[in-house]
Amino acid sequence: MTLVDTPATMTGGPSLAQERRLVTAIPGPRSQELIARKAAAVASGVGHTLPISVVSAGGGVIVDADGNSLIDLGSGIAVTGVGNSAPRVVEAVTAQLNSFTHTCFTVSPYEGYVAVAEKLNELTPGDHVKRTALFNSGAEAVENAVKIARHYTKKQAVVAFDHAYHGRTNLTMGLTAKNIPYKSGFGPFASEVYRAPLSYPFRDGGLSGAEAAARAISVIEKQVGAENLAAIIIEPIQGEGGFIVPAQGFLPALVEWAAANDVVFIADEVQTGFARTGAWFASEHEGIVPDLVVAAKGIAGGLPLSAVTGRAEIMDSAMAGGLGGTYGGNPLACAAALATIETYEEDGLIERAREIGAVLIGRLNALRTADPRIGDVRGRGAMVAIELVDPATGAPDAALTNAVAKYAHANGVVVLTCGTYGNVIRFLPPLTISDELLIDGLSVVAEGLKNA
Ligand SMILES: *Cc1c(COP(=O)(O)O)cnc(C)c1O
Repeated sequence: MTLVDTPATMTGGPSLAQERRLVTAIPGPRSQELIARKAAAVASGVGHTLPISVVSAGGGVIVDADGNSLIDLGSGIAVTGVGNSAPRVVEAVTAQLNSFTHTCFTVSPYEGYVAVAEKLNELTPGDHVKRTALFNSGAEAVENAVKIARHYTKKQAVVAFDHAYHGRTNLTMGLTAKNIPYKSGFGPFASEVYRAPLSYPFRDGGLSGAEAAARAISVIEKQVGAENLAAIIIEPIQGEGGFIVPAQGFLPALVEWAAANDVVFIADEVQTGFARTGAWFASEHEGIVPDLVVAAKGIAGGLPLSAVTGRAEIMDSAMAGGLGGTYGGNPLACAAALATIETYEEDGLIERAREIGAVLIGRLNALRTADPRIGDVRGRGAMVAIELVDPATGAPDAALTNAVAKYAHANGVVVLTCGTYGNVIRFLPPLTISDELLIDGLSVVAEGLKNA
């Protein structure tokens, strides 16, 4: 093994060599050093997927301190859609950094926040009058969407779905479905949260969207009651729960029922939003217009920012001072968001997400034809996954999933797993990745399947 002399920090961005390059085993010695320091200094509840020490990233690669260059098929969990250190983002944030870093928008406002709100009001589904409020994380925005819906409807109950993931704060833990690792031992959870069955075409015996919606609505009406229900919250395509695309018609039927029953429909587009699925928001694929849209992850090229955007009459219900926070809509994050949105637009990245999706779906379906352990290939745009099963029984195969992910990591490909049963490998490449890198990354996953 050669140890190349890589400086501790290195310029990232799209000009980094776009290649998979392994010069040490993963993790190499410098990465191992950091992981040992991490174990001694960082709470072990803060886990990591891949034991490397990152020094730079850009385009479709992540470079570690040992000089290895890994193919990025995760985008830091769907965040760096525009790529790491995207040039417009670097330029805009640097300029903002030199003019002012923070005033607190609720003390003394500035243009960046307002410009992001105007953009979100324009880009989210529907042409009704909208308002936006900005926050820091996806979970914080979800909490605020629920606060706003409760204030507006003067009702309290909230319905989330099987396999849902909405975050790790107290209310969002309660909304999240999966026990380990998200909930076990962290209770008590917030009250007035109820769960309804999802449409999960691969595992619900082929219910149509309308049938699955009728089943969910029946549970809601019998167990909660529309007169108590402030909001339904749902991911248009579930992220952590397993990249579950509901059957066509499921979401529109829920939206229609919510509108008829004075229930606020909240689309949690934290993972699906911002060009990821080949549209600004995944709601567009089903033609639905949510009352409130929650956005985060892909919104600001890696800087922490989140938003709730929705109908003006709902958003304006809360009293002045009822919404906000010290850092929400921080000027650096707003500058990054405006540059990120410009990059999606100017570089044709929505179209690129569709092209990436075609490559992913095409290659993965070809693999599936030859390998019955791939039970399902699903997703939209650059948000695609495979569900791995025992071919004889259809039972989830988490062990195989982990083996394939480990093989990919050891061979220089960053892939993430997900799913309630831990048996889904998901692909969320930056939209700036080349076809060549993407195909190389997929071939490593295919090798991993063959070797497992
Ligand atoms: C990641 C995620 C969240 C939580 O966002 P954080 O920024 O991690 O708080 C909420 N909802 C969905 C759908 C997510 O994927």
